[in-house]
Amino acid sequence: MAKVIHSRGRHGLSQHIAVIGSGVGGLTAALALGRAGHRVTVLERDRVPHAADPDEAFAADRHGAPQVHQTHGFLARLQVVLRDRFPDVLDAVLEAGATTMPTTADFGEPEAGDDDLRVLIMRRTTLEWVLRQKASEQDGVEIRAGVGVSGLVGAPRRHGGIPAVSGVHLDDGTELAADLVVASNGRRAPLPQWLGELGVHVPETVHESGLMYLSRWYRWTAGLDGLDPKLGGDLGFVKFLGVPGDGDTLSITLAIASNDADLRRALADPARFDLTCQLLPGPNQFFARGPIEPLGDVRPMAGLLNRVRRFLDENGQPTVLGFHAIGDAHTCTNPLYGRGCALATVQATLLADSLDAHPDDPAARAAMYEAACEREVEPWFHSAVQLDAMGADLNEGAAAPTPEAAAMGAVFAAAATDPVIGRGIARCMNLLMTPSELMSDPAFLARAVTVMANPDDFPLPERHGPTRAELLDSLGSVAA
Ligand SMILES: Cc1cc2nc3c(=O)[nH]c(=O)nc-3n(C[C@H](O)[C@H](O)[C@H](O)COP(=O)(O)OP(=O)(O)OC[C@H]3O[C@@H](n4cnc5c(N)ncnc54)[C@H](O)[C@@H]3O)c2cc1C
Repeated sequence: MAKVIHSRGRHGLSQHIAVIGSGVGGLTAALALGRAGHRVTVLERDRVPHAADPDEAFAADRHGAPQVHQTHGFLARLQVVLRDRFPDVLDAVLEAGATTMPTTADFGEPEAGDDDLRVLIMRRTTLEWVLRQKASEQDGVEIRAGVGVSGLVGAPRRHGGIPAVSGVHLDDGTELAADLVVASNGRRAPLPQWLGELGVHVPETVHESGLMYLSRWYRWTAGLDGLDPKLGGDLGFVKFLGVPGDGDTLSITLAIASNDADLRRALADPARFDLTCQLLPGPNQFFARGPIEPLGDVRPMAGLLNRVRRFLDENGQPTVLGFHAIGDAHTCTNPLYGRGCALATVQATLLADSLDAHPDDPAARAAMYEAACEREVEPWFHSAVQLDAMGADLNEGAAAPTPEAAAMGAVFAAAATDPVIGRGIARCMNLLMTPSELMSDPAFLARAVTVMANPDDFPLPERHGPTRAELLDSLGSVAA
């Protein structure tokens, strides 16, 4: 096994950690590791400008993370991680204009844990703005913007030992040495290539969602009071969601099959996008409740996938030392389920805990971290793949659902009226319990079995809205 020599940083037993990328994952990791007493250098390729407030942060271009300007919902798990691990960050996002909302109106008699079931309402750029401020104020953390990483420095596999990473190559041709490198450079992180250069194979499992997003932002002052909380829906050929943000903003996303060229062309046009939103139940209420001012054009984003990468071999041994991946660089899930930011923050805390448990044993640390990811993150990858398969009728005329999908659909439908199922599904969809934990809850299971035995008694709500042909017909009459 390669010997890894730890330099001692200015915090005594601390390590020097290079964090690649300053998205939600990188900034949360920097905060957690800095607070644990380590010296952290965050390397961010984008020249993220200083922003005085959330609106300035929203206006900044983020070439390296274009999804920051797509609709983001934040699951209850994110609120819980912030509350329990970074309470000052939760306070600061609320101060910056974020609000929290219960996930569902009524679960009957209150139960322990119901307080957890609150989602955060804010722009993704506001979350990142607060995290950036907190990380840059943190003793021991330095954020270098405009500094890209082009590869990893390390010793390739020799005599059967495990390759070890000892720093990063920067875009300007220099190197930065580090005791530990954390890759949080997002969904496009070329980790198989970077680690391949050190002789490390990174197996990955990929399931394309087949979807693309088209989103538009608006300024809107009518507020949340009286708003029907059902803000989204699914007509098969289009899935749609309107999400209020902080600062009187809201965004609406239309998700369509990425190969539906006609619809894509029509919806990329702002006037047709707005008209479509007015025809869809949920988003239409924003247009019916007072003035609404567009903030920019329609923003398309494709290439949405589910992907998990593995850093242990078949014997559970780490394939690389001195290196960990978090966030989308490690595990990506279809954004439709809104899991990415919560999972990135969970991974940042799992990494900090693993380093705390094994400061001097990189192999034990890697094994602990990856086992924790397998337990707490990977189930959401599998669940996203399964949900994609259940909702894969992206085109009109798709086949009827399988009996299994119909039975699962009935359980989701029953969530609206059955508090046991409703609470269970809400906890699961908000990442507060895994699907297998949910399925081993006797009370939930008993109710679900009854529902699945009689799926016809729990029909999915009828779909309201135009057919694809009707929509294209209406859009054809709008002047571009
Ligand atoms: C269309 C879309 C909608 C989404 N909606 C939601 C949602 O509703 N809710 C939710 O929770 N999640 C959502 N997500 C997922 C969420 O955005 C990601 O999971 C989250 O951004 C992951 O954070 P990260 O830190 O891993 O990566 P990112 O936020 O992508 O950050 C990566 C950072 O690394 C930098 N970088 C990249 N390469 C380099 C390099 N070589 N050197 C230096 N810096 C580099 C980038 O500039 C960027 O700042 C959505 C994603 C997409 C694509």
